[in-house]
Amino acid sequence: MSSDKKHPKESDIIKLLEGDSSRRSFIKNLSIAAAAGSAALTTGCIPSLAEASTEEMKLRWQEFFKKHYRLMTQEEKDAAVGRLERLAKLENNLDLQMGSEPPIDGVLYGYGFNITRCTGFMECVTACIKENNLDRKVHTQYIRIFEMEPGKLDPSTGDGQYYHEVPVDNKFYMGTQCFHCENAPCTKACPTKATWKEPDGIVVVDYDWCIGCRYCQAACPYYGRRFNWGKPEIPKDEINTKQHYLGNRIRPMGKMEKCTFCIQRTRKGRLPACVEACPTGARVFGNLLDPDSEIRYVLKHKKVFRMKEELETDPKFWYFID
Ligand code: SF4
Ligand code: SF4
Repeated sequence: MSSDKKHPKESDIIKLLEGDSSRRSFIKNLSIAAAAGSAALTTGCIPSLAEASTEEMKLRWQEFFKKHYRLMTQEEKDAAVGRLERLAKLENNLDLQMGSEPPIDGVLYGYGFNITRCTGFMECVTACIKENNLDRKVHTQYIRIFEMEPGKLDPSTGDGQYYHEVPVDNKFYMGTQCFHCENAPCTKACPTKATWKEPDGIVVVDYDWCIGCRYCQAACPYYGRRFNWGKPEIPKDEINTKQHYLGNRIRPMGKMEKCTFCIQRTRKGRLPACVEACPTGARVFGNLLDPDSEIRYVLKHKKVFRMKEELETDPKFWYFID
């Protein structure tokens, strides 16, 4: 591929990470104050003795020096997940069930959005916010729904902030979110390799290795990423306690986040929350490698198109019409 120079191979990435496998060496190697500041952000804060119990402080320090997710053994992943569960209990008396389920063999996820069926009610948006523990104070949304004029297929020409009764005559609706590009420019832009594509096609972020530079956000041609400027605020009784390390766990402040195809659900064989919530059946999700899946049916029998095909990002998100 002509882009080899710009896009390091997987083996180079692993080498880079292995040569830098703890955040202790990461900070040392960067040796700039900005990096130290960003690293401090990654754990939220390191407790003083006065603030934290000995156990809590020990756990937080172990968290601070843990490896990049891609370099952890399963044992280390289990330990990290256990620490996060215990910290949630100590800090907020929360009983989390945090998972680190790996990709399922023989699965590559794909998503379809039927623009003739969406009526713009936004149940998908609400379900996504609840499922993924999105910040309620600044109203973070992974999904955006655009009210479109007939004949236009670029959401940037639509109204993404409508507040009126829907559906409106002679308009149609288009949803956007992270499209989980096969050739994702966002992952190539990240200086700490904190974001990558998993074998099942889900583009994820290791929140603890993200330094919040937002290069990935600038690289995304689809406005797929969200940056949390402040500590996410969610009423305790609304927190979804069924979480995944790479998914809906509550992100520390100053991190990049985005749709993960509800990794905490889909890797357990469930549908994403948005698909389940859609009252009109406008959203279709499934395994692209399974010839009998609904998404394969859509790709074979419907008129489909993808956004900005000319960029060759190869999104795994198709729009279609009945
Ligand atoms: S839609 Fe944007 S954030 Fe999602 S994989 Fe593609 S480039 Fe990355
Ligand atoms: S903001 Fe994006 S590019 Fe920067 S470190 Fe985080 S994931 Fe990587």
